[in-house]
This record gives sequence, structure tokens and C-alpha cells, in this order.
Amino acid sequence: MSPDLPLSRRAAAVPPAPSGPWLEGLNPAQRAAVEALEGPVLMLAGAGTGKTRALTARIAHLLAAGRARPNEILAVTFTNKAAREMRDRIGRLLGRAVEGMPWVGTFHAIGVKLLRRHAELAGLKANFTILDTDDQVRLLRQLIQAAGIDEKRWPARQLAHVIDGWKNRAWMPDSVPAAEHGAFDGRAVSLYAAYQARLRDLNAADFGDLLLHCIRIFREHDDVLEQYRRWFRYILVDEYQDTNVAQYVWLRLLADGHRNICCVGDDDQSIYGWRGAEVGNILRFETDFPGATVIRLEQNYRSTPHILAAASALISANQGRLGKTLWTEIGEGEKVRLIGHWDAEEEARWIGEEIEAMARGTRGMDPIRPDGVAILVRASHQMRAFEDRFLTIGLPYRVIGGPRFYERQEIRDALAYLRLVVSPDDDLAFERIVNVPKRGLGDKAVQTIQVAARSNGVSLLEGARIAAETRLIPGRGGQALRELVEAVGRWHRQAVEEPDTHVELAQQILDESGYTAMWQAEKSPDAAGRLENLKELVKALEGFDSLQGFLEHVALVMENEAEGGEEKVTIMTLHAAKGLEFPAVFLPGWEEGLFPSQRSLDEGGLRGLEEERRLAYVGLTRAERVATITFAGNRRVHGQWQSQMPSRFIDELPAEHVEVLTPPGLYGGAYGAAGMGFAASPVLRMGAESALHERAARADVYASPGWRRMQERQVARMGREPAEARGLVIQGTAVPVFAPGARVFHQKFGYGRVTGAEGDKLDVAFEKAGPKKVVARFVTAADGSEDVPF
Ligand code: ATP
Ligand code: MG
Repeated sequence: MSPDLPLSRRAAAVPPAPSGPWLEGLNPAQRAAVEALEGPVLMLAGAGTGKTRALTARIAHLLAAGRARPNEILAVTFTNKAAREMRDRIGRLLGRAVEGMPWVGTFHAIGVKLLRRHAELAGLKANFTILDTDDQVRLLRQLIQAAGIDEKRWPARQLAHVIDGWKNRAWMPDSVPAAEHGAFDGRAVSLYAAYQARLRDLNAADFGDLLLHCIRIFREHDDVLEQYRRWFRYILVDEYQDTNVAQYVWLRLLADGHRNICCVGDDDQSIYGWRGAEVGNILRFETDFPGATVIRLEQNYRSTPHILAAASALISANQGRLGKTLWTEIGEGEKVRLIGHWDAEEEARWIGEEIEAMARGTRGMDPIRPDGVAILVRASHQMRAFEDRFLTIGLPYRVIGGPRFYERQEIRDALAYLRLVVSPDDDLAFERIVNVPKRGLGDKAVQTIQVAARSNGVSLLEGARIAAETRLIPGRGGQALRELVEAVGRWHRQAVEEPDTHVELAQQILDESGYTAMWQAEKSPDAAGRLENLKELVKALEGFDSLQGFLEHVALVMENEAEGGEEKVTIMTLHAAKGLEFPAVFLPGWEEGLFPSQRSLDEGGLRGLEEERRLAYVGLTRAERVATITFAGNRRVHGQWQSQMPSRFIDELPAEHVEVLTPPGLYGGAYGAAGMGFAASPVLRMGAESALHERAARADVYASPGWRRMQERQVARMGREPAEARGLVIQGTAVPVFAPGARVFHQKFGYGRVTGAEGDKLDVAFEKAGPKKVVARFVTAADGSEDVPF
């Protein structure tokens, strides 16, 4: 330091930044981002280029250089898990545990901490509760009713969606623009104001409020804002492309003083537009923060060249992107693998076998353990087929970013109905569904039922019968209870007398109870997904002989969750996979309508399509060594079989980086991927012979015995010729086909062997009951295979 400097400057000067392990191995561009300590920094770069790693190193560097204490760094991560990992990494880089980095977390986590400190400025107490979505909707429903609005026409979930959207844009009730005032029949603004007032009375906040209250406090209390500007000396944000307006406003308020803000992101990975994220935030950074250091990274350290090339080519179909070059030093590696399957069950079966093969290290690859494998789905209802398959073969798995299939609210409700029908003594199940859907049976009615049950020493269902018959519960509720009790009795009889009609029965239960209608009446964005899940549930029943068998299976699935410590395959949505990496990634369900999702296309048009394509890019770039794309020719959509068309994204992949796989002889011969029952895609019609999906779907296996067996299995499963099925929607009715000699099971007669067949009748020599003629539909295969033994 120059001796000419005034003493005050010399004393205030910061010592030169030290170097240490956190700088090791960084490339010059990353190093520049780490060492540009003062002022705004933007790292805008493609997937896997080390943005998150550089961000972490930057924090370590700031701490080591003494620029900030751990509690003076505000770092926003995408998930709480990412925050934990970041803290751990910083500790490792610095070679000591980092105590107290309280401000590393998600927007929500940091927002709630700030709000607790200043709750009184938002009219709350420090111990305010945070409402989840269900609470939020319940509260809105009360307000809608109080306002005399017909909740059937104007559902609370829809209002919740509108209000969330406004909160994402940082609009308070008094600042919603006039153009929006027509929402919810012109009443959303006043209901929003009433909702906020009610939340305050309840000493509660919803998720949107966590930032919104902070924003208002910062705007109205300069002293508080100044305090935090001084306090958070450095601000860092990962995945900046997915911030919404409220998050952006919140960040700018905090950063506008010292402008020590470092944001990293990738415009090609912006996938939360549907939740209000504005990719414009990242593109505007240099305007917002003039003089910003902008760093572009181009070397990808994650994926093999084929994976990278495939992902880059795919995303290049999007317009209006910044465009980036990515390269890698990693050697050759596997091409992206592509394979078509008959249906979602086959897809799950094949992927399960691939994962086992990878663990063994076959196929000329080094082994990849199950915990290095991820299955990334577009829609959560796709998970069920994998969960069931993995359970069957004993492959441990975990589901991230959302409840496992059987733990979802609508599935638990539906299961409660099924449980009650199978065992009418299941009081927990009864309690769960007695007023779902609403039957006018509130807490008081339930108490009456409990008393009736207890004083007679019977189950709640029996108690309900007594209460209904003796008219203990008056009015509409009493009538509804009588109907429910009567219906459960009817369903129970059917379950006992005709156990093999369980699939139809389950559908009937959901429909007749009003449960399906309840979700159909919901206009919220997640209602459609819930209905899909219910359809998936009914479909899952097909694999079982009875409701009872199915419920036992589900109990096992639930138990599986309790085990820990094993190496588990990860199943998650593409959205939740952002920022993560896995040696092997499976991307199932690349079919038109599923991926790209029809809803995104309908609601977002080209914008929606481009967001879907970015999602595909995110998916592919999660893979380090092996990326496998799969699609199915047939899928149950809305409960009906449908021929699926391969995703347009498949034909956007560069053929030279893709290897088209043919499934091995699972059924004793070349069974030919997807020639089977695929609807012709536009590409096929245009005669583009080399279209990738067409190669994956080549039909030269039609003549093989394996194909014929497959076809017969499908005839059995779908009740029609698959060839006829192209483009058609077919109701799934099972008419099993049994070969002579097959061992079967009949509910009444027990086990036996098929001796002959005529039409839909079978001659069976039963072990106990002797020879009999029975209807094929009433027997099931008894050799353990799922459907037809051949
Ligand atoms: P995404 O866009 O998917 O979030 P990213 O840009 O944040 O990706 P990182 O997750 O930080 O990328 O890094 C990807 C992988 O590359 C990680 O395994 C990381 O450890 C590794 N990596 C990053 N930088 C380097 C480097 N300079 N040398 C070696 N490996 C690196
Ligand atoms: Mg990252």
C-alpha cells in the first residue's frame, strides 16, 4: 500500500484477497466471477458450466477475504436442500465448519425469517402461522360464501390462483391495475382485500405474503430497509432466470444501495413462466445495474459431447434466445439413447431392467449405482407406473418434490373410500370421507355419529346407520348420510359377491360418491392433475384380482417409504430437477400432449411450447454419462386408451448424436419397439423417412413371434386389435386369453388347469371342485404373471 495514502484510507483498506482451495480448478471466467468482489456481477451461461460452483466459491472467497461475516451474506438458492449443500461446500472449501450462515436459503425461507423480526409492521405477531394451500382455499371459501357468491360457479381455488398470480407480481389489493379488476366476476379485488384483513385477524400469512409484507415494510420504513442494506453486504442469487416480479422487487430494494449483487442463471432454463417467473429479469440485469460485470461461461463440465450436442440442437429451435456455445473436454461417451415402447407399463418395466443392468455394469459401461440414476417425468401421474414396477422388482426409490403417488390428497381420499368398502369397520377411512365431498356433515354431525357408535359398541359406519335411521341428524345432512350408508353397503356387497368387477366398482364408487364431480367442479390449475391421478389409480387396479389385493399392495408401497439408507433411484418431475446432475437420466413419456404438455400449448401457444422445450433442455442437461429418452405408443389418457404420437422434440434431436435402441427379446424375440400402434406423426406423413422416432418405431418386427405374442397380450388387455386401435380411443376391458394347460384361479372354485376353450368360456379342471365350464373373465392367471400366461 502506498505510504502516500491518508491514514484513514490506509486503515480502511481491505487486505488483498487470499487465495485458497476454493479457487483451485476454476477456469479464468469463473475465477473472474469469484474475484470481482465489488459491484454487480452477472453470470449468464448454459447448463453445467459451473455457475453454481462459481457462486459457491465466491461466497467462500468473500468470507476468506474478510469482506463479510457469514451472517452478512444473503444467498438465495432454489431449494432448501441446495442451501444446505451450499453451506456444506463452503465449509469444505474453507476447511472449517461455517457457523451461522442464516441467510442462505430460498426466497420463502429468508422471507419468513425477515418477517418474523418485523411482524408488527405488517400487523402480525412474531408467531404468525403460515397457511398452506388447503388452508388458504378453505379461508377463501368462507369469504366467498359470506359475500353471497355461488361457490359452485366461482370456486375458491380459482380465486386462490388469481390472488397468487397478483402476489407474484407484487400487487397489493390497493395496487392491482384496473385492467385486472374484472377477474372473478369483478369481485376478486374486494375479496383479496377481505382475505388480507382476515389473515391479519388470524395472525397468519400465506406463501405469497412472506415476500409481499417484506416489500411493503421496506417501502414504508426507510430505517428498516437501510438497516438490511447495511447488513446484507453481499447478495447472491442462483437460478435468477426463474425469479418472479415480487422476488425481483424484493431483491432490488435490498441491492440498490451497495449494488453488490451477483446473479447467475441461464435464459434457456427458464421453466417457471407458468408461475409468474419473468425471464426478462435476467436479460435486463445490465440495464438495472449499469456497469455490471457480465461473465459468460462456455465450458460444460457435466455431460458427454453427445448429450451436450443433442441438448444444444434441441434448444436452438427456440426463438428469441441469447444463444450460447457450449463445449466440453470430456471424451466421446454414449450417444443419447432413444427407445419406443408399447405402453407406459412396458416403459417402466424396461427402465427398471436397464437400471439393474447399469448397476451390474453390463452393456460395456462402467457400473452406475441406483442412486446415480434419475427418472425425470413431465407429469406427476407418470410416476405411478414406476413406483409400482420398482416395488415389484424390489428396486429402492424415492420421490422428490411432491408427495409420492399414494400419498396425494386425492389418492388418499379415494383409498379411504375403497378401504371402507372392503372393511366397513375402518373408522379412520370413514372419518376421512364422511364429508368429502361436502355433504353437510360437519363436526357436530360427526360427533353425533361417534356417540351413536360408541354407545352401541359398533363401528362409525354402523353408528352412522343408527344415527341416520333414528334421524339423530336433521335436514340435508341426515339425508346425505342415509344415502352414503346405503351406498357403502351396496358397494360392499358388490365387492364381496363379484370381486372381479373391482375395476368398474372403483370407478363407480368415485363417481357415485360425488368424489369425481367434486374435482371436476374445481377450476383450479391442479384439479385436472388430480383427476388424472384418480384415473391412474383406477388403472392401477387392473393389475390386481380384487380391491383387497390392491389395498395390500398399497400398504406395502407406503411401508417401502419408511426404509432408509439404501441406494435409491430418484423419481422426480423435470421442474424439480433444476440445478441437479446425475450420472444416468431417464426421460420417459416423450409424446405429444404429454411432453410438450397439451395444457401448456393450449394456454401458452408458442410461448408455452418454448417453455416446454426449455424443460426438455433442462432434462437432457441433467445427465452426466447416459441420457435415455423413451416414449410409449399407447397410454391411458383421461381413463381411455389412446394411441400416442412421439413428441415433436424427438425429431428435433440431431440424428448423429442419437442411438436408436431396440428392446431385447423380452418376449422371446425381437420385439419391435414402437412400430406398434403409433399414430402417424406429421413427419411420417410428410414422408421424412429418416425421422428418428420412425426408426425407433420401425415395424419390421410385425412378423416375429415375439410381436405376435405381444399383440395377443394387448388384445387381451384392450379387447381390440391394436392395429385397429390406431388413432382410436378404446375403453379398457379385459378379456383374458388362456392357453390349454395354463394354471388359473377362480374366486369360487379355486385353482385349476385349463383343458379347453370356446368363445369366452373355458373348460377348467379345478383341483378341488373338479371339471367346470367358467367365464374367462372370472379367472385369473395363477402363475404369478400379471396377465396372460403364454
Ligand atoms: P446448471 O445450469 O445445471 O445449474 P451450473 O452452471 O450451475 O449448471 P454446476 O452445477 O456449478 O453448473 O457445475 C456442473 C458440474 O461441473 C459440477 O459437477 C461441478 O462440480 C463441475 N465443475 C464446475 N466448474 C468446474 C471446473 N472449473 N472444473 C471442473 N469441474 C467443474
Ligand atoms: Mg446451477
